[in-house]
Amino acid sequence: MVSKRLQSVPVSGTVKISNVVAQLRQEGAEILSFSMGEPDFSTPDNIIDSCIASLEDKFTQYTPSLGIPELREAIARKTREDNRIDCRASNVLVTPTKHAIFMAALAYLDPGDEVLLSDPSWVTYEACIRLAGAWPVYVPTSDETAFTMTPESVLERVTSRTRMIILNSPSNPTGSVMSEEDIRAIADIARDHDIIVLSDEIYEKIIYEGEHFSIASLDGMFDRTLTINGLSKTYAMTGWRLGWIVASEENINAINRLQTHSVTCCTSFTQPAAVEALQGPQDEMRRMVAEFRHRRDLVCDLIEDTKGLDCVRPKGAFYVFPRYEADMSSEDFATHLLKEAHVAVTPGGAFGPCGERHFRLSYAASEEHIKEGMARIDDAIRRL
Ligand code: PMP
Repeated sequence: MVSKRLQSVPVSGTVKISNVVAQLRQEGAEILSFSMGEPDFSTPDNIIDSCIASLEDKFTQYTPSLGIPELREAIARKTREDNRIDCRASNVLVTPTKHAIFMAALAYLDPGDEVLLSDPSWVTYEACIRLAGAWPVYVPTSDETAFTMTPESVLERVTSRTRMIILNSPSNPTGSVMSEEDIRAIADIARDHDIIVLSDEIYEKIIYEGEHFSIASLDGMFDRTLTINGLSKTYAMTGWRLGWIVASEENINAINRLQTHSVTCCTSFTQPAAVEALQGPQDEMRRMVAEFRHRRDLVCDLIEDTKGLDCVRPKGAFYVFPRYEADMSSEDFATHLLKEAHVAVTPGGAFGPCGERHFRLSYAASEEHIKEGMARIDDAIRRL
């Protein structure tokens, strides 16, 4: 009974694995899960206290659909300072990050349009593109290019129907970070061919090597770029559902039409807490990033020591994307790890064909779990 539009959306490749996890747990198995895309820390206390204060002040009604002025101002300031994007509060729409991507697809894509994105990519991009009736056009990447799209391979796939390019640096699922040089070259392609850029920068603070660079800071790019970001990953706030889009006023007002007819606005009492997250002390956030870096080094060293596995050392986010030698599909490999080692990872093929022969391991898990999980994986590979 569902619409043709929904029928075109692939079932998430992670669902099968989660079903097996649920079944094994029910049977009493102790599963170590490395499949979650969220920090294992809790939200810093200053942010929680600010939210409680808003509730006590009974700040519980609708807010303006674009977000409260203080938060839009705080986001604009952060974006000017951190991202060198020349913007003001009127260039900000407060909305959950995932909803931002969904609205961007509905606002700018028509049936038949093509969208260029990295293979492998986070699964939601393809779903949103298809819901809008457009076509995902995957740009292959590999371990050799450290999973970044080269400008040449992007250009090769541009056609008269190309409407949008999606960038996600640092990336989910590979942790790759694009160089400023490549971003500049992709901006040239976007300008030359009149293409919109959706730049998902949600992992910008979780970066260990290189510097984050925002494409919208380049000359002539602001008007054709939707810069998307949010608090989930940086401040361990996944359940708060708070993110934003920074773009030209014209684009913000267009997308806001979708916002007013969908979620209306973000939750009211979380918005002052978002101001606190951005403008309050940043030491907790830095501590979390330092801990992720430590775990990245640990997990990569353990992968290197494991026969039959190797990996590109990720430069950002909290995922590693190892390649395995075994001659089997990524789904079979992940199922083997789950059944034999009681370790849950995400099959690489879930993120696109170039993800085959890989798996995604999220190291947003304790050091103890990482050591135990890698020992189990080593054991399961020996038994193949
Ligand atoms: N972009 C990327 C690349 C992500 O990995 C995620 C979360 N998995 C999101 C956006 C969505 O973030 P949120 O849950 O805050 O909507």
